[in-house]
Amino acid sequence: TLTPQGKPKWLRVKLPTGKKYTELRGLVDKYKLNTICTSGSCPNMGECWGEGTATFMILGNICTRSCGFCGVKTGRPETVDWDEPEKVARSIKLMNIKHAVLTSVDRDDLKDGGSIIWAETVKAVRRMNPETTLETLIPDFQGMERHLDRIIAVRPEVVSHNMETVRRLTREVRIQAKYDRSLEVLRYLKEQGVNRTKTGIMLGLGETEEEVIQTMHDLKGVHLDVLTIGQYLQPSKKHLPVKEFITPDQFKKYETIGLELGFKHVESGALVRSSYKAQKHIL
Ligand code: SF4
Ligand code: SF4
Repeated sequence: TLTPQGKPKWLRVKLPTGKKYTELRGLVDKYKLNTICTSGSCPNMGECWGEGTATFMILGNICTRSCGFCGVKTGRPETVDWDEPEKVARSIKLMNIKHAVLTSVDRDDLKDGGSIIWAETVKAVRRMNPETTLETLIPDFQGMERHLDRIIAVRPEVVSHNMETVRRLTREVRIQAKYDRSLEVLRYLKEQGVNRTKTGIMLGLGETEEEVIQTMHDLKGVHLDVLTIGQYLQPSKKHLPVKEFITPDQFKKYETIGLELGFKHVESGALVRSSYKAQKHIL
């Protein structure tokens, strides 16, 4: 069941089509808007954009961290663009986005970790697009509550922070991040009254079934609402290799276990990305 690229057939990607998609693609090119969907060549663009969802990355495109799975460049980041909140808000208006996911690189170089731009972006989007709902997919802010508080204060409908992998593989996969620190971030968000908390993990990095289930229990322990589980794909030869392609049946099994554990939503499938079908997660 392998395609010529050596991938199983369930990972074959449909080319995005449709009127809404073509319209958005035109706007993005014309106004040079930044979405992860295009820069990451996400396979779900046809579907997400067709439904009015897109993911925007703020605080530049150079990250201070160097996770082994991630295609974003590492290095000395750009200076902060204080007009960015307005630019993102305008993009969302032009694209007529109904549900926007905002994310960012990690800015360990900034005193506020980038949390001020984060909060200003949410406020600008709200001002210009009062009907648009928001998910903020945030970094760990090194666990600093005063940074997290700025996000909580502007009340996004969903606040997500990705665990990415199981405990044992965290050091290898996320390098500068810590499993327990990420769990505590999710716990803190919920304790402070965030409506929906959410996380994503990738499979195929060498984790065992037992470890995945343990991670789900850990997430239940911090009262997580929404869980996404997808297949890791290697962005380039320099990144961590794919150890295994998880079968559709195995993804289904995790979904069933997650729902039994009581998460409000579980998206589990090879092409699932943390922002996939994100508009469902506010309900
Ligand atoms: Fe964009 Fe996320 Fe949808 Fe991919 S899954 S197209 S990155 S919103
Ligand atoms: Fe990529 Fe985020 Fe890791 Fe930076 S912190 S390398 S953007 S996954």
